[in-house]
Amino acid sequence: MNQYYYNLPPKPQSFAPPTQKKLLKDQYEVLQIELGSGTYGKVKLALNHTIKKKFAIKIISKSYMKQIFATQHILNELNYLQACKHKNIVEYIEHFEDRDNIYIVLEYCKHGTLNDLIRKRNKLTEEEAFHYFYQIAQAILYLHEKDIIHRDIKADNILLQNSDVKVCDFNWSTFLPNGGKAKPCICGTTEYMPPEVIRKEIHDKGVDIWALGVLLYYMLHGELLFRAKQKEELYEKICSKQPIKFNENLSKECLLLLQQMLAHQKRINIQQVLNSNWVIKMLRCKNNSSVLRLTPIKCRSSAQESTRFSVVSDSTYFSSSKFTAKSQDIEPSEKQGNISQGTQDQNPKKVKSSALDQNNPAFRVEKKYCS
Ligand code: AMP
Repeated sequence: MNQYYYNLPPKPQSFAPPTQKKLLKDQYEVLQIELGSGTYGKVKLALNHTIKKKFAIKIISKSYMKQIFATQHILNELNYLQACKHKNIVEYIEHFEDRDNIYIVLEYCKHGTLNDLIRKRNKLTEEEAFHYFYQIAQAILYLHEKDIIHRDIKADNILLQNSDVKVCDFNWSTFLPNGGKAKPCICGTTEYMPPEVIRKEIHDKGVDIWALGVLLYYMLHGELLFRAKQKEELYEKICSKQPIKFNENLSKECLLLLQQMLAHQKRINIQQVLNSNWVIKMLRCKNNSSVLRLTPIKCRSSAQESTRFSVVSDSTYFSSSKFTAKSQDIEPSEKQGNISQGTQDQNPKKVKSSALDQNNPAFRVEKKYCS
């Protein structure tokens, strides 16, 4: 029987009292340029004039925090972002808050998301897909070695910075020490969810492996493996053990790896993914230079739609991540409240990193895996 049922890392008492009076506006000029948005609010481009550098600022409305589980999701995001330092994970800089919002300052990834890239290109070659896949797998290895599972690996959560990949969005992440299992809950994005999550069973790091398999399939085929108009139909497709139709031109090593990552039982782990014949073959392949040349995104101002890449493609694309798990699907775990009981000021203040308790066992593994 599985002894451990960790759902979330211990919740910090509250955000640090605003002893530091540093204000967001003193350090950053938040531009009216939208990089993206989510249920919580918007991500905007900001300039730090002192160091003359651009950053992305995630602006989370405190009214969103009133929704069930929202506070926990934001605390998750902050905790894990601060705990993780890896070249393939988006870098957390600092955060502020004022009466209305929480502001999370992140490194700016100017080439959009992997989803934008796949949509533009329709599908990628094995060499191109490998370039992204390998870096995402490195990020997952780093997380799994720290006993953290991301639980929402998908093309929209992979940011691109030149040819580097940066995993973002730790809303659904959880900590599973000692080979523990997570409580049954519907978490992540349906198209990428493994059968055990949909069947509301306990689950583990295999969740990220399945999602990585779905993502590799998406890169290589230009369409998601499981698609449906209704959530229930999608659930059925994912749980049915119908043989998967793969592109006939895939190499046998790649095919085998996909099958092993998308196994219902005895799914391989991240170390085995990285030691697979496909990965070894692709690493050996010296001429692995067919990475797409990216040019910076044209950002969205309030009225404009963005054009993410200069790569021209008239291909059709399939929508992804239509169904992100909703709060009613998940098990109640924490009483919701305001993220901070402290400040009520208009000017966003810098918040000390108390959201991350370094003594928290969730973050005890100090090993570095930056490659
Ligand atoms: P998220 O809520 O983290 O999934 O972010 C929503 C969207 O905002 C992403 O899909 C990106 O388009 C954009 N975005 C988030 N973080 C960044 C960043 N650090 N740099 C550039 N764009 C970002």
